[in-house]
Amino acid sequence: MDFDLSQEQKSFQQSAERFAREVVEPRAAGIDESGVFPRDVMQAAASLGLCGVTIPVDRGGAGRDYLSYTLAIEAIAHASATVAVSLVVTNSLVVELVAHAASNSLHATWVKKLATGEALGAFALSEPAAGTDAANQQTTAVRDGDGYRIKGRKVWVANAEAAAVAVVFASTQPGARRDGISAFLVPLDTAGIVRTSRADSLGVRGLGCMDLDVDVRVGADHVLGSVNAGFPLAMWALQGGRVAIAAQALGIGRAALDQAVAHAKTREQFGRPIARFEAIQWMIADTATELDAARMLMWKAATIKQRSDDGLIESSMAKLAASEAAHRAADKAMQVLASAGYRRGSVAERLFRDVRAAEIYQGTSEAQRMIIAKNLRM
Ligand SMILES: Cc1cc2nc3c(=O)[nH]c(=O)nc-3n(C[C@H](O)[C@H](O)[C@H](O)COP(=O)(O)OP(=O)(O)OC[C@H]3O[C@@H](n4cnc5c(N)ncnc54)[C@H](O)[C@@H]3O)c2cc1C
Repeated sequence: MDFDLSQEQKSFQQSAERFAREVVEPRAAGIDESGVFPRDVMQAAASLGLCGVTIPVDRGGAGRDYLSYTLAIEAIAHASATVAVSLVVTNSLVVELVAHAASNSLHATWVKKLATGEALGAFALSEPAAGTDAANQQTTAVRDGDGYRIKGRKVWVANAEAAAVAVVFASTQPGARRDGISAFLVPLDTAGIVRTSRADSLGVRGLGCMDLDVDVRVGADHVLGSVNAGFPLAMWALQGGRVAIAAQALGIGRAALDQAVAHAKTREQFGRPIARFEAIQWMIADTATELDAARMLMWKAATIKQRSDDGLIESSMAKLAASEAAHRAADKAMQVLASAGYRRGSVAERLFRDVRAAEIYQGTSEAQRMIIAKNLRM
């Protein structure tokens, strides 16, 4: 594995860092406070190619590799975890999936719109009874003339507040679980889709997470891939998404580390900066080491994904290691800042809340451990 970034990767990273610093960072506290989906920030991100990073340029994307994508997500998460995860959903769970599996007509209608940010996308897999057990889909899609009638309830659909289209998973063969699920691309202005409650969440506030009541009819050409083959598509998308969530977690973790270092150098107790105390130095040293170790796993997973569209175990390892390292980083930063961090509205407090979701969405830490163990043939 090459640890040197190419000139192209470096320049993409630098443009994402500039965007994060100049556009995202000044908005981060307001997004968290209001919980309102930041449509204008997403539009600005789209103008830099950040809504379709790996999609070829002639299809509206930035034409970059997977590592470049993760570099950008880490840079943006350093400023706002919410904007970063919204971009992960847009890229990994929607536009990459549509480009990978859509029929020619769906491809022609949606890929460019999604990659340029003209349309935002959402991914509707979770249901009240289908969380970690995502194959337990109660939403059904029943043949209806030349199309399908999809009926059910989806929960925690990120981006749904602003999205124009969603990938909706439904059972087309009840009882067959993962062998009987299909993926449909459904415009959210289709009659019969009702956005119900918006999640009032602990962190990543402003992600536009809505529940959806679905009772719609769509044409058979809205199936992604083939009928009953939707579950492997969901897993394919989530595999890429997990690499990017690792990057998001690392951005949050690095922001926490920066907060801890800056505070340790300026806060004085017993007549000296607390950075001079070994107890503080060790917390910071451990944090830096754990984040760097997780970054190596993330780079490895991104490199494998780019080379061979593979790396199931590596993407789970990257997400598991990065989200847990970032959680510890936010916790240690809180300890280093102590009361200054515990104050509502402090950056450390926002990071402490935001980081927690990375161990839950796109598969919990337990789900990642299950995938890793299964692939070790346990
Ligand atoms: C902020 C946020 C955004 C989200 N965005 C989306 C989205 O855009 N689209 C979407 O479809 N979903 C989304 N989700 C849902 C998310 O994917 C689920 O929350 C996640 O998969 C876990 O499901 P659950 O919350 O129902 O937990 P459960 O599955 O009920 O799990 C509860 C606990 O039991 C553990 N557990 C479950 N099964 C096992 C087992 N077999 N062995 C060991 N432990 C187990 C879990 O790890 C967890 O600790 C989002 C969630 C959040 C919080």
